[in-house]
Order: sequence, then C-alpha cells, then structure tokens
Amino acid sequence: MEMLYEGKSKRIYVKNSDTLLMEFKDEVTAMDGTVKAVAKGKGIINARISAYLFEFLEEAGMRTHYIDYDGMRTLTVKRLSIIPIEVIVRNYSYGSLLKRMPLYKPLQKLDPPLVELHFKDDSLHDPLILVEDVLNAGLLTKNDMQTIANISLEVNKLLKDLFLSKNLTLIDMKLEFGRDRNGDIVLADEISGDTFRVLDENGEHLDKEIFRKSKDANLMMKAYVNLCKRLGVGVDDVHVYG
Ligand code: ADP
Ligand code: MG
Repeated sequence: MEMLYEGKSKRIYVKNSDTLLMEFKDEVTAMDGTVKAVAKGKGIINARISAYLFEFLEEAGMRTHYIDYDGMRTLTVKRLSIIPIEVIVRNYSYGSLLKRMPLYKPLQKLDPPLVELHFKDDSLHDPLILVEDVLNAGLLTKNDMQTIANISLEVNKLLKDLFLSKNLTLIDMKLEFGRDRNGDIVLADEISGDTFRVLDENGEHLDKEIFRKSKDANLMMKAYVNLCKRLGVGVDDVHVYG
C-alpha cells in the first residue's frame, strides 16, 4: 500500500481514493519533535482511545473521519483535505497559554472555554493566529470558521462531560479538521493522550504532559494504561513497559 505521509506519531497509507489507513506509531515526541523516545504500546493504546472517542462522538451526532478500527494500531478513515489549522479548546489555563499570558493563574477555569487557532507549521512552531488571518489568507470563509468553532465547542462539551462521568477533568485539547469531497467540514486526526490534557481526582496527568516534564516514556505509558482503564477501554492485551 502507498504511504502518503509519515508524521511524528502516525503513518498514513492510501487504501483507496476515498479512504486512508492511519497507523499509530510507538514513538513519542516533545518540543516540536526535538525530544524523541520509543513508548512501547503507545500506538495501540492511542489508536484504541481515538477509535473509542470517535465512536462516542459519532453516536452523539458529530461528523468525524472515523470509519473503522482493526483492534490494534490502525484506523480506517475518510480521506480529507486537511485545513492547516490546529484548534485548541481550553477549559483551564495550562501550558503555552500561561507562557503567552502569564496573568492567568495555573489551572484557572475558563468559562466559556477559550478557543485558540494555531497555524499548523512545525518550522514556525504552530504559531497562534487570529480569525482575521484565517479569513484574509483564504483558508476558510467566515461561515466555515463559525462552523469549526461551533463543532470544536460541541466536541469539547461532549468529551468534558464524558471524562467528568469518570471523575476526570479535561483541561484542554487540540483538534484538526478537513474537508471531504463534498466540501463539508469533518473532524479529523486523533483524539488521545497525545492531543488532550486530562487530570484525575488527585491532579495527576493521564496524558503526554508526563513525557514533556519527565522525558520518561515508561512513566507516561503507565498513565496511558490508567487512562484506558478509567475510560473502560480494554488494554490487557497490550504490552507496555514495566
Ligand atoms: P504530524 O507530525 O504532522 O502531527 P501525524 O504523525 O499526527 O503528523 O500524522 C497524521 C497526519 O495526517 C497529520 O498531518 C494530519 O493532519 C493528517 N490527517 C489526519 N487525518 C486525516 C484525514 N482524514 N485525511 C488526510 N490527512 C489526515
Ligand atoms: Mg499529529
């Protein structure tokens, strides 16, 4: 099968003209890919969590690229033309938000949630951009921009409530969107511990923040297994470190 793209965490293969295979790798990166490690079991776990959450969102009526999951590290998805914008939805202040606006208190509640747009470009470190930048560059129409903001807030609400029902707090998350062959906007990429921050009742991270801080892939994988257990996603068959 033709490999279309190899990114930091996934390989993308062309299945047919309309569908792609998204293969999740066992690699973890931080700081724009400058820090790298092998995280045994991560590919399967992130594919499984993504499949679980895409299925949950589909059942709630959201349009996603998700088609099927092979039970291991590969999702079948609808082929989209990706919009080069990362949407970050924040329920509590953390990470880069505290760096660019230090007047926020760490973990200050953001209600309504803050929606940030970033230009998807690793060499520029995914800079924060304005709605006007998106419109002026012709990336989206005003209407499409509104659609993406609305979907992002709806996805956030659904996932925040799902996590809350497991006693977990969704701090923030990154979403990507693309267009299908009809031009309709569809939720894409992955939803996993690599792309959101989640805290348990003790304030412990169940996400990639552990690797960003400790550079310890083993420690991170323990948290990812824990996250699966909390969500009711079975992982007894997955071999991880430790
Ligand atoms: P990156 O290093 O760019 O984050 P990843 O390792 O996450 O890359 O690989 C996934 C790539 O595939 C991303 O560039 C993402 O935008 C793209 N992608 C995700 N979903 C789809 C889709 N449905 N159709 C086409 N491309 C997609
Ligand atoms: Mg990515």
